[in-house]
Amino acid sequence: MSVIPYSRQDINQADIDAVVSVLRSDFLTQGPAVPAFEKSIVDYCGAEHAVAVNSATSALHIACLALGVGNGDIVWTTPITFVASANCALYCGATVDFVDIDPRTYNISVESLAEKLAVAEKIGKLPKVLIPVHLCGQPCDMESIYTLSQKYGFKIIEDASHAIGGKYKGEVIGNCRYSDITVFSFHPVKIITTGEGGMAMTNNAQLAKCMQLLRTHGITRDENEMTHTSDGPWYYQQIALGYNYRMTDIQAVLGLNQMQRLDEFVTKRHVIADRYNRLLADVPLIIPWQHEDSYSALHLYVIRLNLAEIGKTHRQIFEVLRALDIGVNLHYIPVYHHPYYQSLGFKTDYCLEAEQYYAEAISLPIYPGLTEAQQDLVVRALYEAIRL
Ligand SMILES: *Cc1c(COP(=O)(O)O)cnc(C)c1O
Repeated sequence: MSVIPYSRQDINQADIDAVVSVLRSDFLTQGPAVPAFEKSIVDYCGAEHAVAVNSATSALHIACLALGVGNGDIVWTTPITFVASANCALYCGATVDFVDIDPRTYNISVESLAEKLAVAEKIGKLPKVLIPVHLCGQPCDMESIYTLSQKYGFKIIEDASHAIGGKYKGEVIGNCRYSDITVFSFHPVKIITTGEGGMAMTNNAQLAKCMQLLRTHGITRDENEMTHTSDGPWYYQQIALGYNYRMTDIQAVLGLNQMQRLDEFVTKRHVIADRYNRLLADVPLIIPWQHEDSYSALHLYVIRLNLAEIGKTHRQIFEVLRALDIGVNLHYIPVYHHPYYQSLGFKTDYCLEAEQYYAEAISLPIYPGLTEAQQDLVVRALYEAIRL
């Protein structure tokens, strides 16, 4: 029997045909597919600008740079995220700190954030940028976070790697109403895929321009941006230190085609989650709590085990599920647990709610192609692991 993964891509014949058509065309990169993909996401999300790059990690990096993050600056994020949400600040020479999570949503806690900001203001250590992460696809309390950003003067990058196709207060994630920049990931486990890929959304033309420059070596072909008039038709200038973070047309056309099924993918994830909710109603665990303000993209379906009632360890349950070929996972190890972050001085029990979450959480398989029969296998395995 093959393993049922926690997530995977959904590729159809139209996706394959679209990629093949690019392979047969003149441009494998720097052609028309990248702007077409960017436009489709702009149209869907309602933000003014989209900058496609080769990963969400790259998008987070150039988003930090565009917001001026550098040596001596402080960036805050949540500990329950993929390491990239924190690493991006370190790439820029800034320091990182973590704000504990909300015990119900597992997103950054607005109360903890408000308390930490009040202390930081007193000691002169306010963050320049905050990176809230819409964990599992459930949006953070962006309105409250935005209000705090106005009071304390920090910028916001939404890490929406899990959240394309979701809504906050009736509006599409990625419109940047409450942030400076929003970042998406198109890794195959995420909601839509380009193989590898990411996108940075913004309503600020200058930030967009800066990120466009940084994704391609800091090179411009726009004479208005050059220090002097062009030397000739071959001419370009490097005016900043950028990177090669470009998305290829092969990737972009796949993303463009996947966008047609984005809503269908998210609807399917909701059907699966609703079914889990029913099938797991009598098991000693906590099912994902959903805020009524929002519509989650449901990238992940995370349960929390009631270990006292189950009488087994988290690890035992996890190992039984894996032995039964259920590709359960744990999203995430608190970032400050990693040896690299420990070497920066973080203690293992730095955020108490994050610790509690890490001791109990398991991500069950959820993706558009998961059949009811496979889902039944997951639930049966969970019952067996817990041995009701
Ligand atoms: C996947 C992910 C990233 C990184 O995405 P890549 O496209 O793989 O670079 C960043 N943040 C979060 C929360 C993620 O889940």
